[in-house]
Amino acid sequence: MKQAISMKAESEPIRVKFGAGIRLTVANEVEWLGASRAMVLSTPEQSRMAMHIAERLGHLAAGVFTKAAMHTPVAVTEEALLHLKVCKANCLISIGGGSTIGLGKAIAYRTGLPQIAVPTTYSGSEATPILGQTNKGIKTTLSDPKILPDVILYDPELFTTLPTKMAISSGLNAMAHAAEALYAQNRNSASDAIAIEGLEAFVTSLPKVIAKPTDLMACEKTLHGAYACGSVLGKVGMGLHHKLCHTLGGSFNLPHADTHAILLPHVITYNARSAAAQLLPICEMLGGSNAGLALHSFSKLLGAPMALRDLGLKEEDLDRATLLTTSQPYPNPHPITSSDIRALLGAAWEGNTPII
Ligand code: NAD
Repeated sequence: MKQAISMKAESEPIRVKFGAGIRLTVANEVEWLGASRAMVLSTPEQSRMAMHIAERLGHLAAGVFTKAAMHTPVAVTEEALLHLKVCKANCLISIGGGSTIGLGKAIAYRTGLPQIAVPTTYSGSEATPILGQTNKGIKTTLSDPKILPDVILYDPELFTTLPTKMAISSGLNAMAHAAEALYAQNRNSASDAIAIEGLEAFVTSLPKVIAKPTDLMACEKTLHGAYACGSVLGKVGMGLHHKLCHTLGGSFNLPHADTHAILLPHVITYNARSAAAQLLPICEMLGGSNAGLALHSFSKLLGAPMALRDLGLKEEDLDRATLLTTSQPYPNPHPITSSDIRALLGAAWEGNTPII
């Protein structure tokens, strides 16, 4: 049994379990952590799921907080911390997608409390020690071992209620982590293998889940992909794709997963100009000779969102988005120029085929 304080700072491995119905064992995990009072977190839309988990916990449930929001606003975290104090919780359970898991991470970062993540989207945040938070319209990212959940319970039964649109976008969000990992400056053969494993799981299983959301076996395979893609995001640095998504999410409040889904083919086509060899595994999985265009066809086939204009971004915002994305240097395989990024954003805004 562990003490009810996160031990990952001392490199304790994370405990990951997959299986239909595995969420029902959540009380065992609280006890395994050495905790006795769990606070359950969710978004308002998933409050019923949170209540079910709290019921399942019985005397181990200390409270429920259902105000998690996208991009982890600091004001919401501060409210949750007050709630945590009142209910004297010594453990966190986040049931939801990256928004809820982000709130759990933000609380764990500030308190050191252990966390159990019960993911309900494919975006993969549960597998990373990374926290993105938003304060006054600016999204900043930090990494710390305390942020990584102690336990992950991947239960495919929770995905039968995931709207198809979210399943597609959160899957492409996870794939974006692995795609950028393939050309990361600090990549190595181990990170390449994890990225390829994650991408393959999505390429083979996500279309099956979209065709039949009750296919629990395909969903579980897709969840293996989510874990691999999330894990690799925590191991290597990201490039242009993540910079663009964080800018558009943090400064223009665009939905995270849809933004990732739309930009992925455009950025990978752009970076294929300098990193075609590193991106070759994507061509081998999807066919074609340009990894970005192959992802564009895959996204279209799935029915993914295609145009930033459909997310509410205004055409006049594209210049400011370009400026924010190009104002500071960061590693990226293809050189970044303002005119190229403005052209890329223009094509993604219109929903056009990526520019080769
Ligand atoms: P989300 O958590 O924002 O969920 C989107 C909506 O779908 C919410 O209303 C949610 O309640 C609902 N939903 C989720 N799962 C559902 C289910 N199974 N059934 C019914 N409704 C469901 O979605 P997301 O895209 O996973 O998360 C986005 C957030 O995650 C962003 O803030 C992003 O920055 C963060 N994120 C962080 C990392 C990281 O490593 N730090 C990685 C990926 C995403």
